[in-house]
Amino acid sequence: TTFTSLPLDPRILQAIATLNYSTPTPVQQSVIPPALEGKDILARAKTGSGKTAAYLLPILHRILTSQDGGNINNGGNDGEAVGGTEALILVPTRELADQVYKVIEQYTAFCGKLVTAVNIARNISDSIQQSLLLSHPKIVISTPSRAAIHFNTETLSLSSLKYLVIDEADLILSYGHENDMQVLSGALPKGIQTFLMSATLTDDVEGLQKLFCRHPFVYKP
Ligand code: AMP
Repeated sequence: TTFTSLPLDPRILQAIATLNYSTPTPVQQSVIPPALEGKDILARAKTGSGKTAAYLLPILHRILTSQDGGNINNGGNDGEAVGGTEALILVPTRELADQVYKVIEQYTAFCGKLVTAVNIARNISDSIQQSLLLSHPKIVISTPSRAAIHFNTETLSLSSLKYLVIDEADLILSYGHENDMQVLSGALPKGIQTFLMSATLTDDVEGLQKLFCRHPFVYKP
């Protein structure tokens, strides 16, 4: 399989070509097709497996194609983002948040301002976090605690959410974010697509699965 055989938006394929990735990694090969069809994903994948692109590429594709019907010449809209936050990416640490943000920048290099992202896990003041969120980004990267705080103060609206990623879910739980995950699970619109990524699939992670996933496609190499 090559990337070009996957039904991804040409703007994403262009970015992948720039990165010189020719073939998808195993987790990307298995997960991307069902994810593009809208299925929830539960994947046992650790850092280095290509797990970030496995969830980002389908999400970016779906955000892009839902905005302009997949048409690059989107009739006069010169790349201005509209609407609320569609994807929330939850990570255990600031470091991972920085990495994910950089990867999004790479894959959206040819998307103009159609797919905006903010990283509120960074070491920045509350007021800067708030102003980032008030810019109505399509994608928010956060730790569960910051997301829960901004949800509670209504700076972060989850009402337009379509995609949720829980990355390194086992670490999220080991860092004691269980209560925040409960808060967030109660705040999600019905029918969103969830990506649960974890290096290990423990009983605790299974608890998250029950809370967030519906009949997921399971990748367990
Ligand atoms: P991750 O597991 O998402 O942290 O990715 C690990 C590393 O693999 C990152 O440095 C990516 O840039 C790289 N990578 C991701 N997908 C591919 C691919 N299909 N081919 C080659 N390298 C990749």
